[in-house]
Amino acid sequence: MKIDLHVHTKEISICGHMPAEEVVRRYKASGYDCIVITNHFNTYTSSHFEEQGVTDFFKQYQKAYLLAKEEGEKAGLLVLNGYEIRFDGSDSDYLVYGMSDGTASDYKKLFSMRPRDFSALAEEQGFLFYQAHPFRNNMKITNPELLFGIEIKNGNPRHDSRNDIAEIWAKKFNLHMIAGSDAHRQEDVGGTGIITDREIKDINGLMTVLRSDDYTII
Ligand SMILES: [Zn+2]
Ligand SMILES: [Zn+2]
Repeated sequence: MKIDLHVHTKEISICGHMPAEEVVRRYKASGYDCIVITNHFNTYTSSHFEEQGVTDFFKQYQKAYLLAKEEGEKAGLLVLNGYEIRFDGSDSDYLVYGMSDGTASDYKKLFSMRPRDFSALAEEQGFLFYQAHPFRNNMKITNPELLFGIEIKNGNPRHDSRNDIAEIWAKKFNLHMIAGSDAHRQEDVGGTGIITDREIKDINGLMTVLRSDDYTII
């Protein structure tokens, strides 16, 4: 299966240009079998929605995912849910897979956490915590002991993510390595991703593949 682990839709990501329907259509046309929607999950985004009268940002976030999932079902593309979280007072982004709805619904508490607290929560609850594009400008490299892994290949063409350094770093510290297009616009679709021989049906299947590194980066 060909999978993109880092995809945005404009229903939540303010910087996104493509609605769910377009994202699904373009990924299907690019030969992908699965995408993970990792919209921005931070105070900047939740405040934007609150200003528009949305009282529960998590519900809004979930609604956007369900819309993409529904489009995926129509098109024959598996759409899974993830998060690109940023903690208050920081410019670093993290990709999260397998976090439960119950945990995500307490988003204000999550945004106020430090990477150390969130890492402990991930460990306790069994979800996966990766730093996204850690060598991009303005990012702060997180202590490798707190991370499950890092994104060693980020396809966003408008940023230099210094993917070569990220890969060296991951190998040095034995971190799990992932890749994603960080798709915001039409031209970003299908920039990179992973390929696995395993058959993934849901987020648990994806987590099994990620935990066992049973994939190659494309
Ligand atoms: Zn963005
Ligand atoms: Zn992103």
